[in-house]
This record gives sequence, structure tokens and C-alpha cells, in this order.
Amino acid sequence: MTTESLVTEPLYRQTPYQADFEATVLAVDETGIVLDRSLFYPMGGGQPGDAGTLTMEDGTHLAIHDTRRDTSGTVRHLAADGVTLPKIGDRLRGTINWSLRHQRMRVHTALHLLSVVIPAPVTGGSIGDNQGRLDFDLPEATIDRESVTHELNKLITADYPVTTEWITDEELDARPELIKTMSVKPPRTGGSVRLVRIGDIDLQPCGGTHVASTSEIGPMRVRKIEKKSRHNRRVSIILEE
Ligand SMILES: [Zn+2]
Repeated sequence: MTTESLVTEPLYRQTPYQADFEATVLAVDETGIVLDRSLFYPMGGGQPGDAGTLTMEDGTHLAIHDTRRDTSGTVRHLAADGVTLPKIGDRLRGTINWSLRHQRMRVHTALHLLSVVIPAPVTGGSIGDNQGRLDFDLPEATIDRESVTHELNKLITADYPVTTEWITDEELDARPELIKTMSVKPPRTGGSVRLVRIGDIDLQPCGGTHVASTSEIGPMRVRKIEKKSRHNRRVSIILEE
């Protein structure tokens, strides 16, 4: 499969609350199905790739179990082995697994808040279905489960709006303090970088999907705090319900 000009329009970035979309197949092979546009979030920035269904014009369904993206902007939808794949030029309807995605949006946004509650450099992180974690460069044991849970839920219920904006690569280079997560490269696209703003409390580069306001996260609690190494204190959080 040539990756030349196989750029997928990232609908997941523009309309994260939409679950259905129509698209045309640009390429197909064992590495995945490439569409001209997609709501399926491709794995990145600690957030897993979306799952869902592609529905062909004849009504047959194709299950997608994961989504990946390469540096050139090609999004690949991964189907199970042995299924009948669509052909280049086919029109189809995509539907993401919304309940899974929405849980990940809630957890992802909560991790931004966690980085506000714990103002230490972030060295890693990941998002599961109803839980997530961040690793902090925090050598001393200055945090405890109860107080972090309390502060996190205070920010959630304060209902801060979550919005996005774009700056140029040069502007980001001039403001390195915006980069909190040292392990994840800022998502640079065609000379600009997407920033996610949470009210007046957080602003950082991020290419993931988020809820529109923090109260939508719902109650969360710190599940555990583990010291993994001198420069790695792991804080795991989980949705309460
Ligand atoms: Zn984010």
C-alpha cells in the first residue's frame, strides 16, 4: 500500500461527540482499511484506538477492533483476519463504539485534571476503558490517595469548559512550559499544534478526545499510588460507577 496522498480527514478531532459518518475507501490491504475521513480515533498519546463497525452499501457489517495512524496522517482501521474486505472506492458508513469512546474521553479529560492537582513533570501515562494513569517525576512521597481524590473531584464538579485551539510550531517552541508530558511528543500537524484548554486551570498540547466540560467526567477516585522508581510515581484513577 502506498501512503502517498492517503490522508484521512480526522473527524474525531473536529466532532468528538459524533458516532456515525460516511466515507469512501482509499486503500485496503492486510495492514488495514484506509478511509478518506474517519471518526475512529487512532491510538496515540496514551489513548487506545477506537473500535466499531463499518457498514457496506449492501448492508454487510465489518467489525473494526482497533485503529492506528502513521506520521503521514494515514488512519488504518483494523479488521479481523479472514473477513471479506471492502474495495477501493466503496462507500460505507462507519460507527464507533460510542460507550467505549465516551468512557475514554472522560478518563482522558480527568488525566488532564490530575496533572493540575499534581504539578510535577509527567513522565508517562495511559488510558484504559474506565481508568487511566499518569507517571510523575515526584521523588518524595508528598501526595496521598484521599487528598488527590478530593482535589480531583473538586475540579470535576467545578464544571470547567474544555476547548481546543491551535498555535504554530514556532509559538510552541517559544513556550516550552506548555509541554507537561515529557514522554509524548506534541501532536504537530502541518506546522501547527493543537492545544487543549480546561477553563483557566490547564493548557497543554494534546491530540486526544475530551469531554466538553469537566462535570461530564463524573466522580473518580485514586485507585493507587505506586513508586515505580526514583523518577516515577504512578497515580492510577478509576471512574466511580
Ligand atoms: Zn488530552
